[in-house]
Amino acid sequence: MAQDLFKHPDYYLVDELLTDEHKLVRDAAREWVKREVTPIIEDYAQKSEFPKHLIKGLGEIGAFGPFIPEEYGGPGLDYMSYGLIMQELERGDSGIRSTASVQSSLVMFPIWKFGSEAQKEKYLPKLATGELMGCFGLTEPNHGSNPGGMESRFVDKGDYYLLNGAKMWISNAPFADIAIVWAKNEAGRVKGLIVERGMEGFSTPETHNKWSLRTSATGELIFQDVKVPKENLLPEADGLRGPLTCLDSARYGIAWGALGAAMDAYYTALRYALERTQFEKPIASFQLQQKKLAEMITEITKAQLLVWRLGTLRNEGKATAAQISMAKRNNVATALNIVREARQILGAMGITGEYSIMRHMMNLESVITYEGTHDIHLLITGYDITGIPAFK
Ligand SMILES: Cc1cc2nc3c(=O)[nH]c(=O)nc-3n(C[C@H](O)[C@H](O)[C@H](O)COP(=O)(O)OP(=O)(O)OC[C@H]3O[C@@H](n4cnc5c(N)ncnc54)[C@H](O)[C@@H]3O)c2cc1C
Repeated sequence: MAQDLFKHPDYYLVDELLTDEHKLVRDAAREWVKREVTPIIEDYAQKSEFPKHLIKGLGEIGAFGPFIPEEYGGPGLDYMSYGLIMQELERGDSGIRSTASVQSSLVMFPIWKFGSEAQKEKYLPKLATGELMGCFGLTEPNHGSNPGGMESRFVDKGDYYLLNGAKMWISNAPFADIAIVWAKNEAGRVKGLIVERGMEGFSTPETHNKWSLRTSATGELIFQDVKVPKENLLPEADGLRGPLTCLDSARYGIAWGALGAAMDAYYTALRYALERTQFEKPIASFQLQQKKLAEMITEITKAQLLVWRLGTLRNEGKATAAQISMAKRNNVATALNIVREARQILGAMGITGEYSIMRHMMNLESVITYEGTHDIHLLITGYDITGIPAFK
């Protein structure tokens, strides 16, 4: 893509609901994406490689743990700012947003919420700058939607814990310095352990041949008799609620992020439709194309209002897991529908790397599956409104 001219659609003047600080944070992230991400991202997606050199800049714009207080090296921003940063990053590419989401919500968040004071001081400041990178191991080869069935285990050996098991589909795994690993103890309780690269018996093979999220490195975590120091147990995490609380934070960011991809596709399609001429008229003058564009902006506006309200609730400490599920599910599905329609407006050009749309479309196929699938989020809403869990 030669030049990134993106302007965000704001049909209902949602910007008026943001503070000056929110807009400052959002605009800084946007400028960074235009300068650092847009010019190189297509090339990295084609190569299927994570652009590691972006880590430092992500730290500088506050994309790693935006909500982490300043005393632990974080920017100390609110959840609206977190959402806006994720929106801007995913406007650039879902893979870059995924890297920041994992570092923020799935690595820094559990250390902040469930860690000891020593763990917070040791890890959080370095994670905030990107000096240390982390990953989050919950999914296993035999347990995706049902993480409670996990087989990874650790046993107390007196001086240390002995960890065995395997995790799969782990974002950032191939290069992460630390992994937040969820495994069961001898009593069958799910606990969180901080596993460091270099511990004997711990390896992170990369997963290849992905057609989606190609700028994000994905891998396995394999534990063969890994001796984990006792001080690496997250003391305050007990049961599945631990990892699920982290997923709430990440899913919140994804609801915003997917909106970014949708806005990018809409804006690209609108500009293209106004410029491209067929039958001696811009294609934007045909009713069928206007229908597509009108429906896109309607859905984007609804999604913007949804995350703005969710951000307000989260800032007030009132956003429920089910409300977050609804927003994640809605906004990712909305984004996927929008990029598919936008792709058609661009005709053949839509399938090329000249435009971001096809990359967004392929990326969103992962986003609709990870952090709880589209179906599972529907069941969470169903459970919330009926009181009856339909998972089993
Ligand atoms: C690119 C990528 C990155 C990822 N990063 C991470 C990461 O960093 N850390 C991590 O821990 N995991 C990660 N994941 C894993 C992801 O969270 C899982 O893929 C997801 O939870 C779904 O699990 P599964 O793929 O095993 O699908 P399954 O659970 O096998 O589901 C397959 C299908 O069955 C449906 N299904 C399952 N159960 C039910 C039910 N009860 N009722 C109705 N339908 C059901 C699902 O909706 C889905 O359509 C990542 C995945 C991808 C693709």
